[in-house]
Amino acid sequence: MYAKVIVDIAHSQVDRIFEYSCPNGLKKGSRVKVPFGGRIIDGFVIGLSESCSLAPEKVKPIAEAFDESPALVSECFELMERISLRYRVPKAAALRLFLPSEMRQGKVREAFVKYAKLNDISVPISKSAKKQAEIIQFLNQAEQFEFARLCEKFGRGAVNALAEKGVISIEKRKINRNPLSGICGEESAKTLTRGQAEAINNIESSEKRVHLLHGVTGSGKTEIYLQLIAREIERGKTAIFLVPEISLTPQMLSQLRARFKGAAAIMHSGLSAGEKFDEWWRLRSGEAKIAIGARSAVFAPLENLGVIIMDEEHDTSYVSESAPRYSTLEIAEMRAEYNNCKLVLGSATPSVESYIKAADGQFNLIKLPERINKKPMPEIIISDMRKEVKRGNNSTFSAALKDELFKTLESGNQAIIFLNRRGYAKTVICSDCGYVAKCNDCDVSLAYHSEENCLKCHYCGAKYKMLTACPECGGTHVRLGGTGTQRVVADLKKLFPDARILRMDNDTVSGKDGHYKILKQFSERQADILVGTQMIAKGHDFPSVTLVGILDADMSLYFSDYRSGERTFQLITQVSGRSGRADSKGKVVLQTYCPENYILRYAVNYDYTGFFENETQIRKAAKFPPYSLICRVMVTSEDEKAALETLKNVYFEIEAIKEANKDDFLFLNRMHSPIKRLQGRHRYQVLMRLASNSNLCKIYDTAVKFSDSKCLVYVEENPASLS
Ligand code: ADP
Ligand code: ZN
Repeated sequence: MYAKVIVDIAHSQVDRIFEYSCPNGLKKGSRVKVPFGGRIIDGFVIGLSESCSLAPEKVKPIAEAFDESPALVSECFELMERISLRYRVPKAAALRLFLPSEMRQGKVREAFVKYAKLNDISVPISKSAKKQAEIIQFLNQAEQFEFARLCEKFGRGAVNALAEKGVISIEKRKINRNPLSGICGEESAKTLTRGQAEAINNIESSEKRVHLLHGVTGSGKTEIYLQLIAREIERGKTAIFLVPEISLTPQMLSQLRARFKGAAAIMHSGLSAGEKFDEWWRLRSGEAKIAIGARSAVFAPLENLGVIIMDEEHDTSYVSESAPRYSTLEIAEMRAEYNNCKLVLGSATPSVESYIKAADGQFNLIKLPERINKKPMPEIIISDMRKEVKRGNNSTFSAALKDELFKTLESGNQAIIFLNRRGYAKTVICSDCGYVAKCNDCDVSLAYHSEENCLKCHYCGAKYKMLTACPECGGTHVRLGGTGTQRVVADLKKLFPDARILRMDNDTVSGKDGHYKILKQFSERQADILVGTQMIAKGHDFPSVTLVGILDADMSLYFSDYRSGERTFQLITQVSGRSGRADSKGKVVLQTYCPENYILRYAVNYDYTGFFENETQIRKAAKFPPYSLICRVMVTSEDEKAALETLKNVYFEIEAIKEANKDDFLFLNRMHSPIKRLQGRHRYQVLMRLASNSNLCKIYDTAVKFSDSKCLVYVEENPASLS
């Protein structure tokens, strides 16, 4: 037998199939070790054959085969080709996506526990071997017992002696490390509302592959997902359930666990290596049938998929930030096509890209315009902060927000205060000369953290001493600018000394269940106010929250990004959606310095369609995505000269492509990236706007050509941030 092997080196020079001889019985999809260039390295068997194209004396045998059952599902082989072609990455890099990295490096293995069991034979035990007799008596009652604990109880010598005589046998049994075992609710399927039932029927009867479920916040999308999954499981199929950030969705997790028990497996970067490995094998072996997780769960080792769900489809975390920079939606579409199954995207604020596809009939559009039980959407009150300042109110909160907070606390309900930043204050500014403290390695301003009285870089994590004097002019009037979550908590405590306040941002959460703990405390009403950043905006369902305060609604409007309007609309709608989800009516106070902004007006009226029509007109006129493609080729290096040299080469090559395809290039230039240095690497970019994707491959190939050990060159399509 001969095996066709892809070696696990993601380099274009070895990006082809190598042949080895192998024993009969080796399976396609297995991981192997093979001799390669004088070393032994890992590889994947992607095919088997009776014949070989090499001369017999040139064929080497594989060194070792790993898995009894092959790790890769057969779908991988086709997807590998498509991914490698689409994102211009070596096949090995595409295959790696399908395996947990811990497993590839062979760092974790399955966990086993040894059990001792009495055999059905009688062997004379000498009177002096008292311990052995005791063990036999003990096992007569216990039937079987953990080997290690038996040794502790009676001594290893006696246990081993019995094993040698064949009186007892020792068995290895695989155990599963069960992640986040504390998260498991009790609940059963709900009776569907008419809207939900119609949505499910619509999805099941439609001929289309992709379905966009546009349901307002609190319209009961989760129940639709769960019942769609349940139907597929009943039909003997499997399902993938994608969420933006799994640690932020303990409620989703507990609902899924409660409903599907062991059939649900979690794929989550916060799990230990062993837990990841076990959950992955539970899916691969067919024991678990539903994979829930963030974007990487789209590579779950499931066969026979019945449905793929992508909740909060607009979320930017669905695009990978490291190579290969895949779009989860594209991969999900490939898998849905391969399995001939449905792909359901859900959101209260669909991305403009997806909604355009739904509007022109490529996707099946399903609308849920009302909340469950016709609960009203929360009323949004706008506080014009310019007027507040004129009236002499320089505090963090408008008069209206203070008033509503007071009423909420008095009535025993809960409030959420949202702002866009973290840290006590955003930056340290010198009042004399205007100096702003910046990170030495990254070209970004530092944030003050009052708990440690230090400055931190949010990009690389570097810590700096708090300034007492300005390093530029020596002046001592250094002040804190901007407001952060810590400052908000401090101000709230002054206003409401008796209120119990929780803070949730990247600084207060740590560990795999850090988010869960804070969210649980809040949902168990151990706190009255939750203050937090983006992470409190996502999908949570807290019945007692009747007030949401948005402190700087317009913050994100000023980002120099064509999507800033869309982002702001999404954020306001999502955060507002946390209010008034149960019996009491909800309110939202939105503080802004530009209340006349049209994005805010649409958001306040929950007018997605109005927003969408306006936004698409603007993008069409200005030729912004999806009416064009923004493409950025990044060139980064520790050595600035090398970066500049490579930038020049990349640019010339792309300019040549432009010369041959003039109509396709709406814009092309090279420049410093807005953040000039990050983690010690200089950053330059070639930025272009393309009318179509017809030259995209050539641009990817250019990046591959000039990327080397000194300079990293990579392509980003419509990047979420241009920093
Ligand atoms: P969405 O994801 O659309 O924001 P959720 O799925 O969180 O909304 O549902 C909002 C609330 O309505 C939740 O508390 C949920 O338990 C409840 N709910 C959903 N479907 C039903 C139903 N059929 N009957 C009763 N309550 C429901
Ligand atoms: Zn830094």
